[in-house]
Amino acid sequence: MDDARREGTGLRVLFVEDDAETRRLVARNLEAHGYQVDPAADGATALARWEARRPDLLLLDLGLPDVDGLEIIRRVRREATTPIVVLSARGREEQKVAALDLGADDYVTKPFGMSELHARLRALLRRAAGPERELDGSLLVGRIRLDLVHHEVRAGEASVHLTPREYELLRVLAAARGRVVTHHRLLEAVWGRAYADEGHYLHVYVSQLRRKLDAADPAGEAGSAIVSEPGVGYRLEST
Ligand code: CA
Repeated sequence: MDDARREGTGLRVLFVEDDAETRRLVARNLEAHGYQVDPAADGATALARWEARRPDLLLLDLGLPDVDGLEIIRRVRREATTPIVVLSARGREEQKVAALDLGADDYVTKPFGMSELHARLRALLRRAAGPERELDGSLLVGRIRLDLVHHEVRAGEASVHLTPREYELLRVLAAARGRVVTHHRLLEAVWGRAYADEGHYLHVYVSQLRRKLDAADPAGEAGSAIVSEPGVGYRLEST
């Protein structure tokens, strides 16, 4: 078996997409990478297949002719933690935020390349398999290490001095293991519910955090691990 086929070995993907051409091309490509693809052209079919077959992963176009894709996420999340990746149109940031807040794990913006989709699926499956690297109560994400016991942070070998809020912001992002955390969720988690709409706090703290991480890291790159997803949120990349 070559590397491409090993990638998704046997995983059953329910792929919901109303555009026939996209459905065919993406399904064929995923199958070539070892996924078992169950294609569905509309929301009603998707929900019926979900009930009957309980796939390992859901790849879901949000713009469907019959049921709102968000409603499918809601229904699935009532019963299961099955990983969900949504396909969303460019410019529909509020839709991505809604999908993530309802419990989708990640999204890919249309039009997308297959290499991007594969990268997202690989990251998702790594996370689903369990903690990436946790040693003595510390969390390692790329060049950044958080000591969750002593609340200490290192970038490469150097320690980074963070305020409690900066630390908490980084911890929430690290705990998400590469998933996007929406602005709203970050504000709630770090500042509390009353601050959920105070987006400017985030901008300021993320800039400070990036600067401190870069300054501590001889390669000067640790800060760029915090990736901004404009209009949606932030993710901490492990690479
Ligand atoms: Ca569509």
